[in-house]
Amino acid sequence: MRLVRPGAANLRSLLAAAATLFVVLASAAADDPYAPARVEMVRTIEEIANAASGGATPRVLDARVLDAMRRVPRHDFVPADLKDQAYEDRPLPIGYGQTISQPYIVALMTDLLRLPPGGRALEIGTGSGYQAAVLAALGYEVYTIEIVPALAEQAAARLVATGFGAVEVRQGDGFFGWPDKAPFDGIVVTAASPQIPPPLLEQLKPGGRMVIPVGAAFLVQQLMLVEKLPDGTIRTDALLPVAFVPLTRQE
Ligand code: SAH
Repeated sequence: MRLVRPGAANLRSLLAAAATLFVVLASAAADDPYAPARVEMVRTIEEIANAASGGATPRVLDARVLDAMRRVPRHDFVPADLKDQAYEDRPLPIGYGQTISQPYIVALMTDLLRLPPGGRALEIGTGSGYQAAVLAALGYEVYTIEIVPALAEQAAARLVATGFGAVEVRQGDGFFGWPDKAPFDGIVVTAASPQIPPPLLEQLKPGGRMVIPVGAAFLVQQLMLVEKLPDGTIRTDALLPVAFVPLTRQE
């Protein structure tokens, strides 16, 4: 039998192990110094959901959605000079007169889609790419369309850099949807439209859901939940007032 005595050599290796552990822990925190702020952001989202819910608006958001919001680095989807505000519960400018949506609204819209596991989602209005990343973090197959070419390019690059490169980004007018990839289990429109675009209704699977802000540009719109029932009947529900940038049209 061999006895290990706490001699100088052992002390040295103990110290070395402690130092290694310190470096590992410190670098984990350095990898993601925003993690605590993200946890706090999700706590705020849960509080707002609790206070604001009524009618069809869920009181308790799906734990999987909240978990995805805890994982997606929102600070990587905002301009560099706004990173310190990335986890405040409000929209932020992303250039070209556009915004990244308020985190609570992203959580709510994602929750309302109630996509089946591995389901196929279409987003209209890629913007920063954040909403698409949240959907991808939930394991969905995500297609997203952005009308501003520079935003589409930046979002595609950002999605690759953050590990969500499986998201397919296309530049174009989302009013027409993505017929080649239809039908979709869920469609999320993140720009306000005066009407529900008929091509999007067509591209929704029976049993599928669409979430869309409907109303005039620059005024308050209604966030609508649109359901295509298994027999093809359309049911709509106005959920809450929201303020989105307008859905513009390609000339
Ligand atoms: N979902 C985004 C926020 C979007 S802001 C995010 O997570 O960051 C709305 C976006 O819709 C803007 O980037 C705007 O350029 C885009 N948009 C407006 N009209 C559009 C259209 N017809 N088709 C596709 N995108 C459109």
